[in-house]
Amino acid sequence: MGAAASAPRTAVVVGAGVVGLSTAWFLQERGVEVTVVDRRGVASGASWGNAGYLSPAFCVPLPEPEVLRDGLRSLFDPAAPLFVPKTVDPGLWRFLAGFARRCTRGRWRRSMRALAELNADCLDAFDELTRGGVDAPTRAAPVVAAFEDPAQSTGLREEFARAGQGTRYRESDGGDVPQLSSRVRTVLRVEDQRHVDPGEFTRALAAAVQERGGTIQAGFTARDVVRDGGRVLVRSDRGEHVSGENVVLATGAWLPELAASVGVRRDVRAGRGYSFTVPTEETVPCPIYLPAARVACTPYQGALRVAGTMEFRKPDAALDRARIEAIVRSARPLLRGVDWDARRDEWVGPRPVTVDGLPLIGASAMPGVHVAGGHGMWGLTLGPITGRLLSEQIVTGERPAALKPFSPLR
Ligand SMILES: Cc1cc2nc3c(=O)[nH]c(=O)nc-3n(C[C@H](O)[C@H](O)[C@H](O)COP(=O)(O)OP(=O)(O)OC[C@H]3O[C@@H](n4cnc5c(N)ncnc54)[C@H](O)[C@@H]3O)c2cc1C
Repeated sequence: MGAAASAPRTAVVVGAGVVGLSTAWFLQERGVEVTVVDRRGVASGASWGNAGYLSPAFCVPLPEPEVLRDGLRSLFDPAAPLFVPKTVDPGLWRFLAGFARRCTRGRWRRSMRALAELNADCLDAFDELTRGGVDAPTRAAPVVAAFEDPAQSTGLREEFARAGQGTRYRESDGGDVPQLSSRVRTVLRVEDQRHVDPGEFTRALAAAVQERGGTIQAGFTARDVVRDGGRVLVRSDRGEHVSGENVVLATGAWLPELAASVGVRRDVRAGRGYSFTVPTEETVPCPIYLPAARVACTPYQGALRVAGTMEFRKPDAALDRARIEAIVRSARPLLRGVDWDARRDEWVGPRPVTVDGLPLIGASAMPGVHVAGGHGMWGLTLGPITGRLLSEQIVTGERPAALKPFSPLR
């Protein structure tokens, strides 16, 4: 694929997570020379320890009436899946109030229509990366949603119907998933999904970007972004700088630090999630989702990765072991053959959550500066399609119709 004669030749991407690196890869595909900078290094944010689901079926807007109902009930309970520490800052309260106002059915439907456009092509964008040499293939498998109380499955069935994505699922006895305990009484097998080792995938993406001539610079904390003639300068906190005709801010939950200076006012907050890995007696055949506990489990490096909780704290706050223990307590009764005491890779990472549950993808108010972030629960699933569409917008100067609802200036 080539670029138009007047198309930009150079770009700087700030943030080496799955969203930034996907954007870098697709820019290269269109002939743009890229430099990626990251304050730490590749996959040092949310892109490492997430659950690895590539699941368009579950990729729905976060603000919905049910989240409001269940979330408010448990807001300050450290054992609950959604947790807000009592010492919150006023900005976080404003954010949560704005989020709560948007938990209406009408808004959910509108947002769903927008997300469905991305979902429709999200797996195809992964295939394009794999075909193009990203050496971390995705694995096709159903997601098995397990319920202790059959009535609990109604919410998920209704959500699939409301989403209107034609999701194929069927009730099963779960007999082919040895990890389900006898407490599980209803199983929905959701077809046509995939999963991946997210750290391995992000690193493979970085390797591909470098093999194609891109530069990745770790240890570069972008402090500000300024225009300098026909270029945009990204300056670090140590006085270094990199420049390109275009800059893409893909700094995940840290986005507000830079985005406000380029006119992007929509807030992004860290909805932190935790994960760890545990050995299992038998091989785990597919992802297992425990909706009541809001815990997602995935086959991972011959073991089981367990991920969950949503905790609104600063993105860099320390790991709170009580959250890990809460995940263990909620998942343990529903799973068997899992050695919960042999946990490794305990991890916390910040989901970049927007107030309206939609990502920010597109041009900022500063010419040449774009934003790609705020994907919340689904930045891995949506990373490659984001990169594909945004690179088209940057190189052609035309915004793809699918990106209209995600304007960072909305
Ligand atoms: C527990 C958990 C489970 C999840 N499960 C799934 C799942 O199954 N499927 C799915 O699709 N999504 C999942 N997600 C969400 C997904 O992980 C995120 O949406 C996605 O990783 C966001 O990617 P990103 O590239 O925008 O951000 P990040 O991966 O956080 O990358 C941002 C990068 O920017 C860098 N950075 C920040 N500030 C600066 C600066 N000033 N200068 C330079 N660099 C900077 C950071 O170091 C970081 O490397 C999950 C998240 C969590 C926490």
